[in-house]
Amino acid sequence: MFVKPIKIPYHIKQYEACLRRLAPGSTRNEVENRFKRCMAGFRGEQSITYFLDYLPDEEFLIFHNLRLFDKIHYFQIDWLIMCSRFSLILEVKNISGKLTIDHGLWQMIREIDGQTDIFDDPVLQAERLTEQLRKWLKQRFEIPDFPVESRVVITSSAQLQIDNQKDFSIRNIIRKSYLGKELDKINQLHTKSFIHQSDLRNMGNQLFTGHNPYVVDLFTLIKSLSPKDIINGVQCPNCGLSPMKRSLRYWHCDPCNHSSINAHLAALRDYYLLFGPNITNKQCRDFLLLDSQAVAKGILHSTGQNYYGENKGRIYQLSPDLLCNDR
Ligand SMILES: [Zn+2]
Repeated sequence: MFVKPIKIPYHIKQYEACLRRLAPGSTRNEVENRFKRCMAGFRGEQSITYFLDYLPDEEFLIFHNLRLFDKIHYFQIDWLIMCSRFSLILEVKNISGKLTIDHGLWQMIREIDGQTDIFDDPVLQAERLTEQLRKWLKQRFEIPDFPVESRVVITSSAQLQIDNQKDFSIRNIIRKSYLGKELDKINQLHTKSFIHQSDLRNMGNQLFTGHNPYVVDLFTLIKSLSPKDIINGVQCPNCGLSPMKRSLRYWHCDPCNHSSINAHLAALRDYYLLFGPNITNKQCRDFLLLDSQAVAKGILHSTGQNYYGENKGRIYQLSPDLLCNDR
């Protein structure tokens, strides 16, 4: 069963929110490039769910995008598949062009349109993840010798070239089309059970709760991006223009004459993704382009889950439920 099904990761939603509120220019281009790169990776991960759907529900636990802490660093696994006999890490690469895996120098070289990019050796990356997951499991469970396998899955139609073909670990690189067969092979290879199904479920719960989503501090990561670049205002859900104007109880869009009672929710969702959950009455008025302190207070009371401080210094915490309202 999919314990943690495929979902667009939080940091991609952050880039998306940023793009909704940035004027054209070089900073927007940079955010757009990051968004496109991450989205291509996500699409690659998404494209293999077809093969994972065939794993029997009652036996396998499947996690997409698991980010765990090994007490020193965070490590992120694209797909983790577990059963009582083994666990399998799938490191997905959706990179187009000509890919040369140079296992001697631990690098992957991509050539496309006359341009060369260097990436980390994905086999080494997957092996490191294997060690980190082993350590993570060992810190919590007593299961000596529980096998942890890893494979690098190339989901693009990249032309692959592998230096040093004799290296055994190169066999851990497979193309997406071969994944079904590879899953069968790994399944047949491991016949011995190491844990009871109930313990496996417990393990699954701990992995699920141990997940820490990757949250980007956009204004630190992207040097040229300043909070001042973010375009404020409530966007019209009907025509997409902004800002909508607030009348007594409604948001109104002059160009298309549309009225909405809750158009501010999407704007506050963007605020949450860009700046985090903390917001003051003044920040709320500035972001939603509101004049009235009382209206902002009403909105914050209905969308905040908590607040602390008094009067002007009061800080509201926006509810994470806002993030569930996917557009
Ligand atoms: Zn409109």
